[in-house]
Amino acid sequence: MLRSAGVVEVVKVSSLYETEPVGGPPGQGKYLDGAAEIRTSLGPHDLLKHLKQIELKAGRTPSDVRWAPREIDLDILLYGDMVIDDSELTVPHLLLHKRLFMIEPLAEIAPGALHPILKKTALEIMKGLATAEKR
Ligand code: ADP
Ligand code: MG
Repeated sequence: MLRSAGVVEVVKVSSLYETEPVGGPPGQGKYLDGAAEIRTSLGPHDLLKHLKQIELKAGRTPSDVRWAPREIDLDILLYGDMVIDDSELTVPHLLLHKRLFMIEPLAEIAPGALHPILKKTALEIMKGLATAEKR
């Protein structure tokens, strides 16, 4: 679906990872997480709008409940080496270095991708998190 838009070219797609829900209301099913590398002419804020339109088309119903079960959630993990922090957008994604389910698929397709604030690669961040979660 990302592909159909014309303004977005999908370069690489990760495997899908089945993960337990983190946060949100109890009794949720598992999630499927993945990452894609894209090329786009859209700037980060226009890309976010575009992703939200895709979420709506894919049947996501807006909910007031944070981390409620959802059909689809398209987030921007990295946008090149840009650092953005405003009311609409935080890039790199705020949880990228804290959630194994985000960093694992990213590290699969772009192990050397650099987190522009932490100055660590996706693979380095993933290894750190994996070790921390085992403790
Ligand atoms: P979540 O992704 O936290 O499960 P939403 O998809 O509803 O929940 O996103 C909530 C808001 O987070 C969005 O409306 C968007 O403005 C904001 N946001 C901030 N940074 C990002 C990002 N990197 N990617 C996607 N959304 C972001
Ligand atoms: Mg989201």
